[in-house]
Amino acid sequence: MTTGLVITIDGPAGTGKSSVSHRLAQRLGMEFLDTGAMYRAAALLALEAELSPDGGPVLAAAVQRHPPVFDWTCSPPRLTMDGRDVSERIREADVTSIVSRVAACPEVRRQMVVWQRSAAASHPWLVTEGRDQGSVVFPDAALRIYLDAAPQVRARRRAEQLRAGGRHADEAEILRGILERDRIDSHRSEGPLRIPDGAERVDTSELDLEGVVERLERLARARLGDRLPRTEAASRP
Ligand code: C5P
Repeated sequence: MTTGLVITIDGPAGTGKSSVSHRLAQRLGMEFLDTGAMYRAAALLALEAELSPDGGPVLAAAVQRHPPVFDWTCSPPRLTMDGRDVSERIREADVTSIVSRVAACPEVRRQMVVWQRSAAASHPWLVTEGRDQGSVVFPDAALRIYLDAAPQVRARRRAEQLRAGGRHADEAEILRGILERDRIDSHRSEGPLRIPDGAERVDTSELDLEGVVERLERLARARLGDRLPRTEAASRP
């Protein structure tokens, strides 16, 4: 009998990974891990404790003292640090602007990898998204997916998201930020963004959110069939 299974979804900034992964997890009766949120919490910690975002061992030690903790009773799980809900705060521009530097610190990454594997041990039916989930953290995942989209499309989506939330959005500036994050994420020494071996690459440029989720659900059901948890949707004729 299958007692768990991991699906990884990696890809660059702005491909809609979080929303797609959360909805896919819901449809498959699985849980969802947003690993970008964990790095964002570390970046927030660097800002608040006035630590250098490039400060490897010092920052990693601080992260260990103030770990990101998910509340798995919420869907998607909310993220807390020192008991404070930081789920919204970590999406702010000041955090976004330094998070790739924080995520480039090998000491911070190693700690995050330990926590991510331990999350999968306690939540064994897991859709996890990030940059290194299929390549480093769960190379034996049952299904590895790489989501991609043209940078201009990704910048436009981010701008639309921000505007929908009543926030100001300068698309050209967002595009610059995305390209810079892609550059740092792809060139770091540890856990760089890359297409994991054996991953299914899905270009989302021409698809809306629902279209991507549909496509991934079909893919997961075709590939994993009986190994997936039984859900009402799956048992409907
Ligand atoms: O996905 P999100 O935009 O929230 O990720 C924020 C940043 O966290 C990324 O730009 C990347 O630098 C880092 N990250 C990472 N490895 C992961 C997830 C996120 O390096 N698994």
